[in-house]
Amino acid sequence: MKTIAIIGGGITGLSIAHRLQRERNSGVRYLLLESGNRLGGKIVSVAEQGCTLEGGPDSFLSHRPALRRLCGELGLDSQLIQPETGASTLYLWQGKKLKPLPEGITQLVPRKISPFLRSSVISWPGKMRMGMEYFIPPKRDEGDESLASFVERRLGGEMLRTIAGPLLAGIHGGDAAQLSVLSTFPQLRRMEREHGGLLRAMLANRRQTAAAAPSGNTGGGFYSFKNGMQQLIDALAAQLDPTKVKLGQRISRLWRGSQGWVVQMECGSGISVDEVVLAVPAYSAATLVATLDPELRDEFNAIPYASSATVSVAFRRADLLNSAQGLGKGWGYFVPPKAHRRLKACTWTSAKFPARSPEDVFLLRAFLGGPELNHILQGSDNELEDIVRQELRITLGIRATPLFTRIFRWERGNPQYVVGHTARIARIDQLLSRHEGLYFAGAGRTGGGVPGCVEQGERLAAAFLEERTQAVSR
Ligand SMILES: Cc1cc2nc3c(=O)[nH]c(=O)nc-3n(C[C@H](O)[C@H](O)[C@H](O)COP(=O)(O)OP(=O)(O)OC[C@H]3O[C@@H](n4cnc5c(N)ncnc54)[C@H](O)[C@@H]3O)c2cc1C
Repeated sequence: MKTIAIIGGGITGLSIAHRLQRERNSGVRYLLLESGNRLGGKIVSVAEQGCTLEGGPDSFLSHRPALRRLCGELGLDSQLIQPETGASTLYLWQGKKLKPLPEGITQLVPRKISPFLRSSVISWPGKMRMGMEYFIPPKRDEGDESLASFVERRLGGEMLRTIAGPLLAGIHGGDAAQLSVLSTFPQLRRMEREHGGLLRAMLANRRQTAAAAPSGNTGGGFYSFKNGMQQLIDALAAQLDPTKVKLGQRISRLWRGSQGWVVQMECGSGISVDEVVLAVPAYSAATLVATLDPELRDEFNAIPYASSATVSVAFRRADLLNSAQGLGKGWGYFVPPKAHRRLKACTWTSAKFPARSPEDVFLLRAFLGGPELNHILQGSDNELEDIVRQELRITLGIRATPLFTRIFRWERGNPQYVVGHTARIARIDQLLSRHEGLYFAGAGRTGGGVPGCVEQGERLAAAFLEERTQAVSR
């Protein structure tokens, strides 16, 4: 029998534990060690006054099959919901007002030409520059580049500054000039490589694209759960063996014992195991391996993290009748950095997921964050609340007093996949190979959000099981 310590009870650690639990007769045992007093890490949903509030992720993309498969295994298929979609799903704060984005532009290439041409979000010279994309030769080498460099090279500076930069980099809470296109949106470089450009790829895939995302209510490929993302965590936790899940156990150090690994807890005691998965943020992994391998520690520490906060605010619908441009017609809005607003984006939760609030309540979720806003996050709850209310007054005209506000702070919550991230992970893997039975998984390793973490967890668990099968048959 082999025992694997999984350090970190976020979705990555839970996915590994789930697979090993299902294969409990395989000869591979697990021990899930989490420093907090709950499982789920960044995934947290809270019920308040009939509303479901999401602290971290509010939905996931279905393009990776592992998470949808997991939902099936956990009996959660009937609990899946998709966001409402209307004609325009997203708005941009521009020229002191909210303007709807033309359909499909969030994938960088507009799906329909005439709404794009009619839209005033991009100027005529900007639109012409975007059209030139068709004639720009593809980059032939495999080298990494920033998201900003990719978008500017292919679609021009206006598209970068107005839409692509704030929207795509905003997903990672980062800066398009720093983030790696290969680590954040590898599909963009794939489209360029395989089709010669984004417009060419869009034209080549038109039929499939239309089939995959017609203008009906497909939720743009996004899913969530009726009672919030926490439902996934609760379902995973419910099928684990409670004797193999330890909460409130911060691991402080690892070292090689005479028979495998010793996992040292902050409280002083140590546990001997055969293999260890670091399913924690890279900076936590750095602390754990600090004495074991300073070189590995430095590589982990070199992965930067940005902080953010989400602020859920609920209003009586009756109080919003004379305010709120656009409210209820889409998913929310985002703000480009050049507008110098403290709120980066806002989701109209009640419009995106109507079941997340009672009918007479309108729930919003505001996003604060980014490197330049770190000092705001150090403020008190009252200060954060004031900032959000001031911003909502300016962008949406909301003057009403909220029913309630709930703040979730994510200090160093968003790994930044900067240019060269894949090469750094390759170096980390090389250094890890010096320590047999030590692995690193989770959001610090690769992107893809929750589905990406589940995929990593599944892959690692499958490798443990395969290794065991081979060892037994030897
Ligand atoms: C505000 C926000 C919004 C997001 N929105 C989306 C979205 O809409 N869709 C999407 O797909 N993704 C989204 N993401 C990203 C997604 O939440 C993460 O990619 C994913 O949840 C990361 O899971 P993880 O298991 O890798 O790490 P985590 O969730 O960070 O879990 C790591 C766990 O390790 C524990 N830990 C750390 N150090 C130790 C130690 N020394 N000992 C023991 N335990 C330790 C922590 O307490 C934590 O529970 C969002 C993230 C944030 C912050």
